[in-house]
Amino acid sequence: MTTRTTQPVQGMSDLGPPEIRIWQEIEQTTRRIMELYGYAEVRTPIAEYTQVFTRSIGDTTDVVQKEMYTFEDRGGRQLSLRPEGTAGVMRYVAGLGPEATGARLYYIGPMFRCERPQAGRRRQFHQLGTEAIGAPNPASDVEAIALQQHLFSQLGLKGLRVEVNTRGLPEDRAAVSRGLASGLQPHRASLCEDCVRRMETNILRVLDCKQPACAEIVKAIPPVTEFMCEESRKYLDEVLRLLRRLEIEVTVNPRLVRGLDYYVHTVWETRHPALGAQDALSGGGRYRIDFGGDAVEGVGFAAGIERLVTALEHDRPGGAPPSGHGPVWIVSHGARALEENMVLAQALRMRGVACGMDLAGRSMKAQMREANKANAGYVLIRGDMEIEKGVVILKDMKDGAQEELDLPEAIEKLVSAGRAEVLKS
Ligand code: AMP
Repeated sequence: MTTRTTQPVQGMSDLGPPEIRIWQEIEQTTRRIMELYGYAEVRTPIAEYTQVFTRSIGDTTDVVQKEMYTFEDRGGRQLSLRPEGTAGVMRYVAGLGPEATGARLYYIGPMFRCERPQAGRRRQFHQLGTEAIGAPNPASDVEAIALQQHLFSQLGLKGLRVEVNTRGLPEDRAAVSRGLASGLQPHRASLCEDCVRRMETNILRVLDCKQPACAEIVKAIPPVTEFMCEESRKYLDEVLRLLRRLEIEVTVNPRLVRGLDYYVHTVWETRHPALGAQDALSGGGRYRIDFGGDAVEGVGFAAGIERLVTALEHDRPGGAPPSGHGPVWIVSHGARALEENMVLAQALRMRGVACGMDLAGRSMKAQMREANKANAGYVLIRGDMEIEKGVVILKDMKDGAQEELDLPEAIEKLVSAGRAEVLKS
């Protein structure tokens, strides 16, 4: 296949200015909120041994069966690019042993799924996510949801809908599958082809099939909680009670299953009205993952950053909050001035003032154009003549006012203007 060499791989995107700003803002806010809840960042490799995913996510899931980028490396090892964050973090946590109990970790990074690219579905996308390690406990699940909602509201999202359900205990699975099978069996002929297959391989997935005919059938069968033990139902009740205490609004959706096998008890998904058909902004839940005898339990969520950006652009039509005024732009005239201005730029930057200048000796007009393009707050003009006199011309781009100042005076003014910007932000 020939592709244009300047294009990224289909379904993957470059990220650069200006939209990178909103990404950076999301990341900064995330780091700040994580700190409030005592979470530390973890960065695991983007490739893992394939079995890290097949064993934890489950080998009958769509993610593992159809969507993973799996390859053999030069040493004959079976590796996969991570399709989600939890499995790798849990592998890391299992390696830490008992000292990991109580760990609270978060990650931000790229994930890879070889799906058909469409609006809201990328082959490389990004997630931010959390994991709180520890045995099942409704309070931990509720705190993870509270953190998520705090983060989303801090970012400025509105109109979110959190749907909660339970997957029950692993011991419930056989009864749930039997119950669902007996409910679905009479309608088998009306189910879509995928759901007929799912009835044999992963019957829970029938519940979240998007086909209208399947959704109608599912509506009529009993909710999964009906087939679960008392303990699982009580766990969900306690989660809902604590959510009410924290005044976090959720909707119980008995058809919510989440696609992956490792979930136990609480699962949730958050939807946003601006996301269209792919309206899930985040997914989370409690899980139990077994790494050959080392079981790790925890609770967490992952939010898609591309979808967060879409939702934020909808909820905040003005874009990211203004970041104060732009850099100081130094305009030179003459060869000596260019060199002296390089020294000046370095001195300003060392004192925390953002500044830019043309290094290629272009015309003053071209330099002014650059200053406008950079949204400069001040333009500092200094040619060979000003150097002789020891002065600079400083133009405030807000009101166009221009003054001649001694160089040290101009530097102090720019440094304190920069400081005022920092205090404002
Ligand atoms: P999941 O674990 O599949 O529910 O994914 C968690 C979140 O990641 C979703 O709610 C989306 O926001 C995001 N996400 C999942 N798959 C993709 C994708 N292919 N492209 C963009 N975002 C995605």
